[in-house]
Amino acid sequence: MSIPFIDFKEQNRLIQSEVDVGFKKVFEKGDYILGEQAHIFEDAFAKYCGAQYGVGVNSGTDALHLAMAALDIQEGDEVIVPTHTFIATALCVSFCRAKPIFVDIEQDTYNIDPKSFEKAITKKTKAVIPVHIYGQPTNMDEIVTIARKYEIKIVEDAAQAHGSCYKQKRVGSLGDVACFSFYPTKSLGACGDAGMIVTSNKEIYEKALMLRDYGRKGRYEHKIKGTNSRLDTLQAVVLNAKLKHLDHWNGMRAKNAAYYAQLLKSVKGAVVPITKTDRTHVFQTYAIRLPNRDKVVESMKAKGIGVLIHYPISLHLQEAYADLGYKRGDFPVAEAVADDIMSLPMFPHITKEQIETVVEALKESL
Ligand SMILES: *Cc1c(COP(=O)(O)O)cnc(C)c1O
Repeated sequence: MSIPFIDFKEQNRLIQSEVDVGFKKVFEKGDYILGEQAHIFEDAFAKYCGAQYGVGVNSGTDALHLAMAALDIQEGDEVIVPTHTFIATALCVSFCRAKPIFVDIEQDTYNIDPKSFEKAITKKTKAVIPVHIYGQPTNMDEIVTIARKYEIKIVEDAAQAHGSCYKQKRVGSLGDVACFSFYPTKSLGACGDAGMIVTSNKEIYEKALMLRDYGRKGRYEHKIKGTNSRLDTLQAVVLNAKLKHLDHWNGMRAKNAAYYAQLLKSVKGAVVPITKTDRTHVFQTYAIRLPNRDKVVESMKAKGIGVLIHYPISLHLQEAYADLGYKRGDFPVAEAVADDIMSLPMFPHITKEQIETVVEALKESL
């Protein structure tokens, strides 16, 4: 039995009728760009996060880029980024001609290590981008304390953590500004690219609104140099429909993760994800560490089990960042994780039988 890494069929079925009606309304009204459904989703999602404002954009990458621009990050500035993340977390810094400063991660959560963050701070440091990797929030109390001490802005990269909580507060409300991706495979995913900047800071909000829409205030009055990056109304229809299910689906993911963890107890050498007691984990990605990772990945794929690696190369070792002069050995925790981490199939409606099959295949592969 082959098992896909992600299967949307059941989710799609549950939102199909609402999406049909929503699409029809948009087609009738013709408000394709920043239409009613887009504004409804911006408000609903910001509120869901416990924040005041949402600015819908084209992608998570754009959300990060425009958040950097809204904070006026520019050439000569440094922004601290965990090296174990998707490359967009660093690209947004480079796009602003600033320098990403990579730091190591925590051994247990795979999130940015607060001590490494503090050590990397210089006079040029303007911001830090904690990434709530795989769906578990970063240790925000420590990050916030350090950031406030040095007057550094906090940009949450919440692209993998829609709905997860740190001390009863949702991600998206834990820093100065937060960035979300609604790329289809995220736990709240559109039918194409989409993203959002979420903040309770009015100044950042107003700047982000202009930045995503040619820097304009009136129709042809341009205050700053902006771009075209706006959440599609049709994507917002899908996202509005899915948002109503998000908490339930996150709960299903958590149950699936618990079942994986139970079964994986009997798999020698497998390290399952831990969840800190002061937060929730929404398991957008179910990543385990294990010996002989590369061989296991090959074997799992041969058995028809969808597995992926998030991420095989730390950012400081990527060719794209060779110019920064980092080398192997600089961030030992992240490098070890990159060498032996593997993501198993995870989606709300994966069945117990499918999880059992995945774990059986894993045992055979080992
Ligand atoms: C997916 C992702 C992004 C980028 O989002 P896109 O919508 O694909 O541009 C950024 N950061 C992290 C951590 C991600 O997982």
